[in-house]
Amino acid sequence: MNIESSPRKLVKGATGDWEIVVGLEVHAQVISNAKLFSGASTAFGGEPNSHVSLVDAAMPGMLPVVNEECVRQAIRTGLGLKASINLSSVFDRKNYFYPDLPQGYQISQYKNPIVGEGEVSVDVTATETIAVGIERLHLEQDAGKSLHDRNPATSFVDLNRSGVALMEIVTRPDIRSAEEAKAFVAKLRTILRYLGTCDGDMEKGSLRADVNVSVRRPGEPLGTRCEIKNVNSIRFIGQAIDAEARRQILILEDGGKIEQETRLFDPARGETRSMRTKEEAHDYRYFPDPDLLPLQFDEAYVAALAAALPELPDAKKARFIAQYGLSPYDADVLVGERAAADFFEDVVGGNGQPRDGKAAANWVINEFFGRLNREGGDIATAPISAAQIGGIIDLITEGEISGKMGKDLFDIVWTEGGDPRAIAKERGLTQMTDAAAIESVVDAVVAANPEKAAQAKAKPAMLGWFVGQVMKQTSGRANPQAVNAAIRAKLGT
Ligand code: ADP
Ligand code: MG
Repeated sequence: MNIESSPRKLVKGATGDWEIVVGLEVHAQVISNAKLFSGASTAFGGEPNSHVSLVDAAMPGMLPVVNEECVRQAIRTGLGLKASINLSSVFDRKNYFYPDLPQGYQISQYKNPIVGEGEVSVDVTATETIAVGIERLHLEQDAGKSLHDRNPATSFVDLNRSGVALMEIVTRPDIRSAEEAKAFVAKLRTILRYLGTCDGDMEKGSLRADVNVSVRRPGEPLGTRCEIKNVNSIRFIGQAIDAEARRQILILEDGGKIEQETRLFDPARGETRSMRTKEEAHDYRYFPDPDLLPLQFDEAYVAALAAALPELPDAKKARFIAQYGLSPYDADVLVGERAAADFFEDVVGGNGQPRDGKAAANWVINEFFGRLNREGGDIATAPISAAQIGGIIDLITEGEISGKMGKDLFDIVWTEGGDPRAIAKERGLTQMTDAAAIESVVDAVVAANPEKAAQAKAKPAMLGWFVGQVMKQTSGRANPQAVNAAIRAKLGT
C-alpha cells in the first residue's frame, strides 16, 4: 500500500480509495516576559525550578492575576488568523492529576474562548491553495515537566514551565494530507512570527501539535479519529499522519473498527502507539475558575490592536507581486520570514531610487540566501548588507560590470567587506564596453581562425564559439551583448 499522500489525492487501499482527514490542535507559547497568571519569568533554559512563583507552585491561598500582555497577544493572534474576537470570555478549571501539575487543574478556556472562528490560507504547492478553518483559539497554562532521566530510582519535577501562557489554536477537520498539514503548520508559524506572538521554535517546544487523524471513503461522513499527542516537528507531523492513516486503513480493510484513543508517535519506528483511551470533556469536570472574573474588553481596545498589526504574509506577498513584478514563487520565498522580506525591500528600495524587482529578488534569493544556507548564517549577522548587494546590482545595471563579475564581487564583499564600486575600480573589475576595443579583439580572433569563420557563416551555432574566444581574450571583461553584436557584424550573419 503506497500512502505517500500527495495533496488532495486519495490513498489507494487494497479494497479501494480512502481519504485522509486531519484536524490540528496547535499549542503555541505566547511571547511575554511573565507567565499567564504570575510575575515569574518565562525565560527558556533556567535552572530547574528557578522561575517559579508561589502561584505557579500552587501554594494554598495564592490567587492568579491575569497578565494583560498575554491577553493582548492572544487577541493580536486572533486578528492575524482573521478570526472573530470575543469581547467576553471565561477561564475554566480543567481538572486532572499529574505530578507536574501542582494545582490539580489547568486554568484553560472551554465554552467561552477569547477567539472564535477564523481562516488561514495555505499554499500547498505553487499552484494549489487551500483554506483551513480555525475553530477557536483559547488561552491556557502550560504544565511543568517531569524529569525521569536524572536518577535511575527517582523522578523530579521542574516547574519552570508551569503557568506559562499557551494559545491553543484548533483547526476544523479541513486538512486532507500530510503535505497539507505540514504546509498549514509552516504558514501558521510564519504568521505567529510576523505578529511576534510566538517564536515558533519547535525544538524548544514553543510550538507543538496534537494531530487528529481519521480516514473515510470519499463522500462518506467523517470516520472515527485518533489524536496523536504533542508532535514537535513539522516533519514528524507529516510522518505521524501517514503512519496513522496507514494503520487505520489496514484495520478497516480487515473488517475492524477504529477505537477513538490518544496515541503517541514514535519517530524512531515511524509508527503511532496507543497511550490511553480518549478522555471526554466531562472527565475533566470543567467549571469556571472562581478566582478569576470573566475576561472583558471593549471594541475600541480590539480596534487599536488591529490597527497596529504589522503587514502579514498574504498581504505582503500580494504587494510584492504587484509592486515589484515578482513571480508568486519568489514572493513566497521572500515573505517566509519577515526579516527576509525586509532585507529584500532594503535591496530593492535603493536610496529613493528603486531597483529592478526581479534582479533584486534573484540576488537576494540565489546569491544571498544560497550563501547563508551553505554557511549556516542568518540575515542579521550576515557579512554583506542590503546596501552592498544593491551597489553590485547598480554596477551591473549601469553596464560597468557583467553578471559574472557581479558574482565575483559578491564573493569579495562577503569575505573582505568594502564598497562594491570602490573594489570594482581597484581590482579592475570593469566591463569592456568600448565598441572599438571589442571590435579589435573580434577582428583578431576572426583573422586567426579563418576556417571557423567560414563555417560560422553557414552554421550560426558556431557564433557561440567566437563569443567564448573573445571573452577569454578579454578575461571575461567584455560585455557579452556587445561581443555578440560585433561578431555578427564582422561575419555578416
Ligand atoms: P476534543 O475537544 O474532544 O478534542 P474537538 O471536536 O474539539 O474534540 O476536535 C479536536 C480536533 O479534532 C479539531 O482539530 C478537529 O478538527 C479534529 N477532528 C474532529 N473530528 C475529526 C475527525 N473525524 N477526523 C479528524 N479530525 C477530527
Ligand atoms: Mg481537544
